[in-house]
Amino acid sequence: MMNLRRLTICTICGLVLASRLIAAVEWQVIKVNGRDFLSVDNVAKFYGFSGAVVDGKNIKLSTEKNELQFRVDSREMLLNGVRNWLSFPVFVHEGKVLVSRIDLAKTLEPQLRPNMIKNLGRVQTIVLDPGHGGFDKGAISGYGYEKDYALDLGRLLRPLLQARGFRVIMTRESDVFVPLEVRAQIANATRDSIFVSLHFNATDRDPIASGFEIYSLTPRGAPSTYEDWLTQMSINIQNGTEADAASVELSSCIYHSLIGHIGEFDRGIKRARFAVLRLTKIPAVLVEGGFLTERGESRLIAKPEWRKRLADAICTGIDNFRTLAENKKRPFVVADYRREKSGGAAPEKESVVNPAAPPTLSLDMLYSEAPREDFAPIQTPTPSPIGTAPAEP
Ligand SMILES: [Zn+2]
Repeated sequence: MMNLRRLTICTICGLVLASRLIAAVEWQVIKVNGRDFLSVDNVAKFYGFSGAVVDGKNIKLSTEKNELQFRVDSREMLLNGVRNWLSFPVFVHEGKVLVSRIDLAKTLEPQLRPNMIKNLGRVQTIVLDPGHGGFDKGAISGYGYEKDYALDLGRLLRPLLQARGFRVIMTRESDVFVPLEVRAQIANATRDSIFVSLHFNATDRDPIASGFEIYSLTPRGAPSTYEDWLTQMSINIQNGTEADAASVELSSCIYHSLIGHIGEFDRGIKRARFAVLRLTKIPAVLVEGGFLTERGESRLIAKPEWRKRLADAICTGIDNFRTLAENKKRPFVVADYRREKSGGAAPEKESVVNPAAPPTLSLDMLYSEAPREDFAPIQTPTPSPIGTAPAEP
């Protein structure tokens, strides 16, 4: 009896699915040198983007809710108004503009349809991780040390988050050295939580480098933002985690709030295999709140009221991530924050279910990892003019 009923339900589901499939867009994977790519046209059709606007090397796709801007032969792109760094450059092959399957699955999809991210659970506790401490001073400006600014930023953030109902754990509450593994252990021992590491930036290559950036873990089989070559080494180090998609969306939520509230240079959403990202099993990001090596920015970072602005923006981003995780509401993007700031009515938060995007296609194919032989070294263009190359931030 049970089985019969189940069978009937399955048949009905199958019929509904079949009728939807007629309108569905298929993924057509294009193999180039053993790697999987998808055409930008295919991406546009799947997500319901209107036709591509091509201006020289720039390709722009938009719907009412999402906007993508690719540049041919570049890993740099704009996704809903902020810079994102792809693992592989977009390029032209046999008349088609191609984007890698890894980038589609790990960077575009989570941000285009955040409500479809698997394993987004409750967000009750925020593990704040002020970088460095003790003998590890971090970066240094003429005004002070990174370790002190990061701790102060954590201390400013804690009451803001508590006021919004979050529980807050800090990996350090004073000027002490905490090993990176211990920071990750603290995160992993905390249920229903996310991990936010707080840092300020530095470079000895470019004294005028400035602006914000944020990192989440590099996907398996892909180079980090600062790696030009995909080496066997970079593949073997880390297999990615269950929280990959959630982590990049957490990056997106915090970063859109930072850029939307504070007019610093947009250096982008980046990838790295920093220990605190590699070893944490919960959604984890590392925020770089400006450069201590740039004169103007170092002066701003030294001001408590500036750090309070940073704390406010990060807090709002975290709260937006919780709203997404728990209520499936579309997070604000940079344009929403700017509209709000300019006094214009902010749009109602709506469900991210995009009727134009057919839900029938399984994404499992895209999320499955590429076979090992795909990982021959390839060259990818360097993302900097604006880059520093941190081993650990
Ligand atoms: Zn640092």
